[in-house]
Amino acid sequence: MNDILIQNTVAFFEKSFGSSPQKTVLSPGRINIIGEHIDYNDGYVLPAAIDKVICFAFAKNNTTTSKIIAIDLNEEFEIDLTQEVKLSDVVWTNYIRGVIKQLQDNGFSFEGFNCVFSSNIPVGSGLSSSAALECGMIFGIKSLFDLKIEKKDISLLGQKAEHWVGINCGIMDQFSSVHGLENKVIQLDCNTLDFEYHNADFKDYSLILFDSNVKHSLFTSEYNTRRIECEEGLSIIKSHFPEVKTFRNANEEQVLSLKDKMTDKVFSRVHFVVKEINRVIKACKALDQGNIEQLGELLFETHYGLSQEYEVSCEELDMLVDTAKEDDAIIGSRLMGGGFGGCTINLVKKGHENEVKRKFSKLYLDTFGIELKFYDVKISNGTTLL
Ligand code: ADP
Ligand code: MG
Repeated sequence: MNDILIQNTVAFFEKSFGSSPQKTVLSPGRINIIGEHIDYNDGYVLPAAIDKVICFAFAKNNTTTSKIIAIDLNEEFEIDLTQEVKLSDVVWTNYIRGVIKQLQDNGFSFEGFNCVFSSNIPVGSGLSSSAALECGMIFGIKSLFDLKIEKKDISLLGQKAEHWVGINCGIMDQFSSVHGLENKVIQLDCNTLDFEYHNADFKDYSLILFDSNVKHSLFTSEYNTRRIECEEGLSIIKSHFPEVKTFRNANEEQVLSLKDKMTDKVFSRVHFVVKEINRVIKACKALDQGNIEQLGELLFETHYGLSQEYEVSCEELDMLVDTAKEDDAIIGSRLMGGGFGGCTINLVKKGHENEVKRKFSKLYLDTFGIELKFYDVKISNGTTLL
């Protein structure tokens, strides 16, 4: 699948600039197996890079201007590298402007280059096409001009570029796009950026994403409210249990003992957080032991926590997971990402993929009048130079 993407990208470069690219880069999207809404609550997350990528072709052009072509949009722009970088009205160019600005602000010097890119990562479905774009650009510029930038710093620069564009994201997306390894998931501590790989052998099960094709606008306001509710909850826990410094060293018993000291909402939020932190640790053990059925159970538990306690689901996602729970061919399912739309991640028994897709397509269309999309994903390497 990626071979055709690479061929087309290189051919487009040659047609546009009349010479071959000097560097070709693949930069993947990502999934998160478990650990949702705890990146900002002292938790671990368990992401992995996938086999859907943006392919970039680069060459120096011996000027001080760069020309970048987005093949999929049939758009291009030029940027004068000697001028101050400013935001544009053309959103996609800002991710690239942001990357150039972050590199320059951090003292990296480079000259003009030509670049074309094309992608098979679905855009805006929660697979982090934006992180793939930022990290792939940084990787390409670094390779062209021999810049010394460590992997960790590529992800941090990518994150800063996204903040500059105006999205206050955590580090998970960029980190996993850069650090992914084939058939490994990354247990990442979002507070320290310490990480550990675990085997991701799903044995008799395939990973399939169901894209609900909905995006409810509640996301930003609810996200901010959740952050405030969790802060409030943590400070109540700390005031009764001074040994607790972060959610990570609070336990469920402590939270339960404080039920009447918190509003119902705050209680539900912190109960979810403490249990979700625990589920990530259990999920790593399940993967280490090859117990995929146990992992599947944890995914369902996470979904019901996100839906009923953290309240970031919606009827479309709940319907997909409720139906999965009743289906013998699916052993785990949950909403993936921030919620209020996007994808569910599912563990589907091998051999049953097509029948599951047919059934869910029809049911979803009949219920909501919306087409359900499917992405088969394999866990793959992070950003690479071909
Ligand atoms: P995602 O969940 O896919 O990261 P975002 O809204 O964070 O969704 O980022 C999507 C944005 O990234 C797009 O609106 C576009 O500006 C940019 N982008 C992603 N992929 C491409 C592409 N192939 N070509 C041009 N721009 C892209
Ligand atoms: Mg994004």
